[in-house]
Amino acid sequence: MTEEGASGATGMRTDRCGELRLGDAGRLVAICGWVARRREHGEHLAFLDVRDHTGVVQCVVHSGVEVRNEFVVRVTGTVRARPEGTANAELATGEVEVGDCEVEVLNPAEPPPFPVTDRVDADEGLRLRHRSVDLRRDRMQRNLRIRGAVNRALRAAMDRQGFTEVETPMLWVPTPEGSREFVVPARLKPGSFYALPQSPQIAKQLLMVGGVDRYFQIARCLRDEDLRADRQFEFMQLDIEASFVTQDDVLGFVSAAVLDAAEAATGTRPEEIPRLTWTDAMERFGTDKPDLRFALELVELTPVFAGTGFNAFKAPCVKGILVPGGAAEHGRGRLDALTDRAKQLGAKGLVWLKVGDGGTVDSPVAKFLSDEERAATVAALGASPGDLALLVADERPRVLSVLGTLRNDLGRPPVSEGPYRYVWITEFPLFEGTDDAGNPVAAHHAFTMPHPDDLDLLATDPLSVRSQSYDLVLNGWELGSGSIRIHQADVQAKVFDTLGIDAEEAEARFGFLLGAFRYGAPPHGGFAVGIDRLVAILAGEDNIREVIAFPKTQSGADPLTEAPGPVPDRLLGELGIRVLPPRA
Ligand code: ASP
Repeated sequence: MTEEGASGATGMRTDRCGELRLGDAGRLVAICGWVARRREHGEHLAFLDVRDHTGVVQCVVHSGVEVRNEFVVRVTGTVRARPEGTANAELATGEVEVGDCEVEVLNPAEPPPFPVTDRVDADEGLRLRHRSVDLRRDRMQRNLRIRGAVNRALRAAMDRQGFTEVETPMLWVPTPEGSREFVVPARLKPGSFYALPQSPQIAKQLLMVGGVDRYFQIARCLRDEDLRADRQFEFMQLDIEASFVTQDDVLGFVSAAVLDAAEAATGTRPEEIPRLTWTDAMERFGTDKPDLRFALELVELTPVFAGTGFNAFKAPCVKGILVPGGAAEHGRGRLDALTDRAKQLGAKGLVWLKVGDGGTVDSPVAKFLSDEERAATVAALGASPGDLALLVADERPRVLSVLGTLRNDLGRPPVSEGPYRYVWITEFPLFEGTDDAGNPVAAHHAFTMPHPDDLDLLATDPLSVRSQSYDLVLNGWELGSGSIRIHQADVQAKVFDTLGIDAEEAEARFGFLLGAFRYGAPPHGGFAVGIDRLVAILAGEDNIREVIAFPKTQSGADPLTEAPGPVPDRLLGELGIRVLPPRA
C-alpha cells in the first residue's frame, strides 16, 4: 500500500527495506530502520534483518559490528540475489540480500519490553504501555496504513460528491445522542462546563441553515460509555449532512464513500449495498444489526399454533430457527445448555424438535402437538430429516431478541472474517420503548423526521411511528446511523411534545438550534460512519483497539500516559473545583 510516486528516497536513504527485489540486484543502496534480528554466520559474518514500515530485508555484515535488536541503523551495501537454495518464500524481499554492508548506528536501543514480531502475542497492557515499540510490528503498521487509506478514500469520495470539509468545535454543549458527556471546566467562568461533542450533530445542522449545502468532516466524537471491543471513549466518524436531499440521496452519498474505502483497503469493491426495513430485519434476524454472512433465519410459526392446545404455545408470537443437520450434533447436554441460555435471555423456555425420516418429530413436547401442527411446523421451517428446530413462544419483541441472540450464538463467525456483508436498515421506529415517566424515548435523536405516512400516529400511537432514519451494518456491527431531520417548527414541537420535552426544556437544551431554524432551515439529512469499526473489519481485526494508534484499555485507562490522573490543587483552585473523596 505504498503511495504512488513516493520512492522513499531521502537524504539518508535510497530505498525502503521491504521494497528491494531481484530487479534491484547490483544497485548500491542505503536503507534505514531497526535491527529486527541478528544471526551469526561463521566467524566473520552476521546476518542482520533490518526493518522499516515496509518490511524487512536481510543484510550481510561483519560479525564484529556491534548492534543488537531494535538499534536504529543506516546500512549501505549492494543488493544481490541470495545464494542458490537460501531464498525465503515467506518474505517479500526473500530472494535478495544486501551484501558488503557498512552499518552506521544512528541510535542504540535498550532490549525491547517484548519481541517486535507479529508471531509473539504480548500482553495487551504491556503493548499499550510501550505502544511506540508495539507500533513497529508489521500488523500495526499495516493497520495504520489501511486506516490512512480508508480516510483518504472517504475524503476523496466526499470531495467528488461536492461536499465541503468543515471543522466544528470540541468545546461545545451537550448534543442529542443521549450518552453521558465528558465535560471540561471553564476557567473563565468557574462552576461552568463545556461538553465535549458526542458528535457534531447540532453544529452540522446549523451549517445547513448557514447554506453550506453539503458538509463533511472526519470528526472526533466523545461519549463516556462503557468500553467494549467496538467502543472507545473517543472515536472517529465520517460525519456528513446535506441540504435539499431525500433519504435515497444520503444513502447514495454514504454508499459511494464506504465502497470506495473498502476498495482502497482490500482491493475489492463490494457489491451495491442491499436494503432491509427495520421490521424485516427484526422479523428475519431478530436484531437491527443482522449479520448476513449466515442463514439460520427466524421463521414465523404463529399461525401454525393459532388454535393450539399446548399451553406454552398459547402466546402472541411463536417463531423458530432451523439448524440444518443439527440433530445429531446436539445431544442432551448441548440442548440443555441452549435452553438455559434462552432462559437467561428472558425466554420462558426453549422447545427443540429433531426431524426424523418421513417428517417424524422427536421432541419432549411432541405429544402435546397435533399431527397437523407437527407437519405444518416441519413444512414452514422447510425442515428435512436430521435437522434441528428451536422454537420460542412469547411476546413478539422477546421472541425476536431471544432467537436473534441464539442465532448469533449458533452461527456467527468473528466479525472480521470474510465475506463482507453490508446492509442498510431503513424505517427504524421513531421511538423505542418508554422512560421512567412513561414518555417514548427517541430511537435515534429528537430531530429525526417521522415517516410522512405516520405523522398522524404521533398523537395516537407514537410507538408505531416509523422514522426516516437508517443504519449501515457490516457483518453484524453497526457502522453508523443517520436520518432526514425535522426542519419544520410544528413537526418538531409535536415530536418534543411526544418525548415529554416541554417548550422550556427544548429551549434550554437546543434553543440555539431551534432559534437558528426560525431564520430559514432547508430540508436536510445526514449520516455518520464509524471509521474505527469500518477499518477494524477491513483490516481483519475483531477489536477496534488494534486500528487505533493510542487506544484506552477496557477500563478507560491509558497505560502509556497513565491518564487519567490527578491535577495539582493550584489548577483545581483556578477552576473553582473541589474534589470529593471517592464514594464508598
Ligand atoms: N449524530 C448521529 C450519530 O452520531 C449521526 C447522524 O444522525 O448524522 O449517531
